[in-house]
Amino acid sequence: MTKNFDVIVVGAGLAGLQTAMLLGRSGARVLLVDAKKSVADSVHTTGIFVRRTLEDFDLPPMHLGPPVRHVTLYSPARRALTLESPYDEFRVGRMSRLYTHYLHACQRDGVVWSPATRYVGSEDASESQVVRLETGGRSWATRVRYVVGADGARSRVARDLGLDANGEYIVGVEDVFEGVPLDGPPRFHCFLDPRLAPGYLAWIVHDGEETHVGVGGYAAHFDPLRALEEFRGSVKNIMDFSRARRVERRGGRIPVGGVLRHIANRRGLLVGDAAGAVSPLTAGGLDPCMRLSSLAASVIADYLKTENRAELSRYAGDRFRARFVSRLWMRRMLASARNPAMLEVACAAMRLAPLRPLAWHVFFGRGSFPDVDASAHAARQSARSVAAI
Ligand SMILES: Cc1cc2nc3c(=O)[nH]c(=O)nc-3n(C[C@H](O)[C@H](O)[C@H](O)COP(=O)(O)OP(=O)(O)OC[C@H]3O[C@@H](n4cnc5c(N)ncnc54)[C@H](O)[C@@H]3O)c2cc1C
Repeated sequence: MTKNFDVIVVGAGLAGLQTAMLLGRSGARVLLVDAKKSVADSVHTTGIFVRRTLEDFDLPPMHLGPPVRHVTLYSPARRALTLESPYDEFRVGRMSRLYTHYLHACQRDGVVWSPATRYVGSEDASESQVVRLETGGRSWATRVRYVVGADGARSRVARDLGLDANGEYIVGVEDVFEGVPLDGPPRFHCFLDPRLAPGYLAWIVHDGEETHVGVGGYAAHFDPLRALEEFRGSVKNIMDFSRARRVERRGGRIPVGGVLRHIANRRGLLVGDAAGAVSPLTAGGLDPCMRLSSLAASVIADYLKTENRAELSRYAGDRFRARFVSRLWMRRMLASARNPAMLEVACAAMRLAPLRPLAWHVFFGRGSFPDVDASAHAARQSARSVAAI
């Protein structure tokens, strides 16, 4: 492929697909590459979308599971706190199908798709970027005006562009089952247990069709696969796996240090996990993928049109980090809570009326990621004023 492009998007996860689709729609010539042969391969996320994403973005309902309104939070001693929302709070995406849906939308908008293509590196050639790629053992290069790093938590693009890199991670691993009977309404079960999930949660989400059973935590403090096995064995009283069929195993790193500060320069920018755009508390990254990628596409489209570098100042991590301060504090608390007795007391407190709203807020609150569209408008005004000075 020798054709030149305006933008290369490296990585076709949710962040890359959303960015490529919107850029294609804006008229930019976009090349989308991923090391995977198919976007449907090796899904690594549970795929829980929160209400705010479901309301604000046009996710195709046929690729989402039934709504979930019930949450049960278990203490280390398995004392339960149940919460019920009057709204459809969560839906589990059928991620292989969703990614394929977004890829087709990209292609309809003129995005050129290159699967099984690994990003190898990029060099600054003053007005353009030369990007080195490898497809099926064959090396090739393309020249672009701008590079988007949507290549996940350990972004190589970030390093090559001299942008910030993630430094704090948890790891998650889960099994997906079919054939688990559902007793009651679809439910999201969350288990606070520092032995099985140090610094995070163990979870079961059962929407009536699929059951996801997983554990997450700091890699230095547990063996994720062993913890998953033990966890599954310990929830037989809650869920009957006797006739269940495991259909998939998923897992990966989740950056939890908050949005990185320096995520754009004149050569390129970062979206999704590459930008650290994950809630440090809940480790939810899908809503940030949609929101930050939408902003990224609008910033890039304006930058390509105007070649005015001030446009890029709209895309600064510091603008989002401010919204994460309390969640970063709560992450610090969760990370250091290794004593089951301490967590037991915290859970007991949350079962009391005065602290219930806190649990409600964590699970059903609508503040997963700043509403970048609104802030983008304000920032666009200020970028214009900066440019005018
Ligand atoms: C086990 C687990 C469960 C999770 N559950 C949830 C959840 O339920 N809800 C939620 O909101 N968040 C969840 N998250 C977080 C969420 O999944 C991520 O934040 C989100 O998927 C990140 O999307 P992304 O597009 O930025 O990155 P990715 O989905 O990681 O996509 C990056 C893409 O880049 C490609 N790539 C990487 N390097 C190269 C290269 N050199 N060349 C070419 N391609 C490359 C990869 O193949 C990949 O396709 C979970 C994470 C994990 C690990």
